[in-house]
Amino acid sequence: MVAANFPKDIQYLKGVGEKRALLYKKLGIADVGALLRFYPRTYLDFTNPSSIASAPYDEPCVIRARVFAKAPEQRIRKGMTLYKVFATDDSTDLVLTFFNTPYAAEALEEGAEYLFYGRAAGTRSRREMPSPLVFPADEEAGLRPVYPLTAGLTNRIVAQNMKQALSLLDDNLSDPLPQKLRQEQELCHLTFALRNIHFPLSTEHLALARKRLIFEELLTLSLSLVLLRSRSHESSAAVLTNTNIEEFYAALPFQLTGAQKRAINEALEDMQRSRPMSRLIQGDVGSGKTAVAAALCYAAAKNGLQSALMAPTEILAQQHFASLSPLLTAAGISCALLTGSVKAAQKKEILARLALGELSFIVGTHSLISPDVTFHKLGLVVADEQHRFGVRQRATLAQKGAHPHLLVMSATPIPRTLALMIYGDLDVSILDELPPGRQAVKTYLIDSEKRHRAYNFIRGFLNEGRQAYIVCPLVEEGESELASAEEFAERLIEEDFRGYKVGLLHGKLKPSKKDEMMRLFQSGEIQLLVATTVIEVGVDVPNAVVMMIENAERFGLSQLHQLRGRVGRGKHASYCILVSDNQNELTRERLTALCKTTDGFKLAEEDLRLRGPGDFFGSRQHGLPELRLANLVTDMSVLKTTQEAAQRIIESDPALSLPEHQGLKQNITELFGSVSAESFN
Ligand code: ADP
Ligand code: MG
Repeated sequence: MVAANFPKDIQYLKGVGEKRALLYKKLGIADVGALLRFYPRTYLDFTNPSSIASAPYDEPCVIRARVFAKAPEQRIRKGMTLYKVFATDDSTDLVLTFFNTPYAAEALEEGAEYLFYGRAAGTRSRREMPSPLVFPADEEAGLRPVYPLTAGLTNRIVAQNMKQALSLLDDNLSDPLPQKLRQEQELCHLTFALRNIHFPLSTEHLALARKRLIFEELLTLSLSLVLLRSRSHESSAAVLTNTNIEEFYAALPFQLTGAQKRAINEALEDMQRSRPMSRLIQGDVGSGKTAVAAALCYAAAKNGLQSALMAPTEILAQQHFASLSPLLTAAGISCALLTGSVKAAQKKEILARLALGELSFIVGTHSLISPDVTFHKLGLVVADEQHRFGVRQRATLAQKGAHPHLLVMSATPIPRTLALMIYGDLDVSILDELPPGRQAVKTYLIDSEKRHRAYNFIRGFLNEGRQAYIVCPLVEEGESELASAEEFAERLIEEDFRGYKVGLLHGKLKPSKKDEMMRLFQSGEIQLLVATTVIEVGVDVPNAVVMMIENAERFGLSQLHQLRGRVGRGKHASYCILVSDNQNELTRERLTALCKTTDGFKLAEEDLRLRGPGDFFGSRQHGLPELRLANLVTDMSVLKTTQEAAQRIIESDPALSLPEHQGLKQNITELFGSVSAESFN
């Protein structure tokens, strides 16, 4: 909403030309409104500078001191030059050290006083502060913002631009939070909040600003989810009347687990109601979500309705088709697979049969939501590996057919608190039971010195006819993923796995090549698959028994758990080897947790506790828009309040058409983009 008040181009600000505007663009900031919503990562506290003697040991603090001498530069080793500057507060001395930054030391004038921000170590009589941030001595007391930056933009520049942007605000700025709600919740006005989130006058001011902005953020999200959920009040044209699926059970080659049966029954109950089902099936890898989906597709077909299963990749679509179509065909249901590689003539035929209702079940990728796909009577949509589909796709999908039932399946075990947030518009069934006979994957943490022993261990399995995965080290920023993966694979092929059939799977491969590679691995023509994290999603190769992961510390626990789930899918004992040299205590704790348990939900809770929700899924795979200030763990109680408030707002104004709700409506549109316009009207 600030953007609506300030659509001014970022170049309107002093000192922002084309070049700087481009840097801002990298941070997703195009106008002044967006800049105002670019919140500090943290703050430097200038309210109470310490004396040198009383500065806390090795903790962030601000010290006021006068520079009195500089030492000549010192080359300490190749590529490392040290600059020392001496300062004093007339009772104790402070040595400031700068590495490889001559300009930082040069900028300090002898005889002048400064404020230094950093961590002071050293001895009682001679304290030392490495790499301090330097501020003028007359810096105002208060908290200084520290912004998350991109190369080329300094904190000083952003702060300067921000000050000017804030000066454009006045108290007439329209606030997306209706006044009544603000009063009721004791929340400050947006203008006050923006001023104090950037340049807080005190910690109390900052707390007020944060409270208010977090509330707005979570209210916007809650409202979006309530609106999405209200779709389920529409009536569906796909009510099931016959839910007897004994025939299907009889055709299954195995007995369903109790959890599977429970999930099927819950969904069948939903589908007998006149409003469309919106249900999430959450189950750890291997818990048998596919069979649940098959049962429901069967039930739909028995009722003369079509079903569509949407998978995130072509290979997964093929895999689903291969495992589902025999079950469904045996029960007399016509099935087809529609992917990008289906030939034009065949595609045309499939589309025609689908439109006529001759096909009861279709499996495909995202292509199933494209406009040229029409159904005769679509009754059920199943989306696999939901976390790859955003809320947005969910809404688009729901618009196909006459309000079909929707089942989403996710293998990412999500802690309840987070699930409530992300899937606020869905009912949840949990598959908390694995089919019998599964062996837990044994997991080990090793350092890179033991790598060759691990390779030896892997060769042993390959010699017995088994297969294995090795996940490449992640690349550093600026490094090419492709070059690094190729180099890594090359070394394995030339050295440790000479004579074995090794394949490389990476993100830069065309989808058809990726699928080809997976097919070769599935059929056993490749013994060892070296891969970047593209193998993460549900590919099933029961003969693969070892998963080795380089740079394990760089992955989230849930992501590692997903990777580990690629093995242990058959009758053979399976292993996961985590390689990491990282000695950070928290990191060791995370990786050790993985060695100790194979319970995905426990790991998810642990991950959430240790890393916070920001990192939870790695790269925002949950399809939720990014939260800027709110933290789903610590702000849980605010979330509850906003959910209640959202409910009340929608009850009183279902289409958000009242003037006092225009700001919130605008917020939702900004959050979810175009979908809100289509599905919230
Ligand atoms: P996921 O939940 O990871 O998608 P799948 O549906 O792919 O799991 O099932 C994993 C494997 O377990 C498949 O080979 C499937 O045929 C098998 N399976 C599913 N349910 C059962 C069961 N109740 N008993 C035995 N095997 C099962
Ligand atoms: Mg699956």
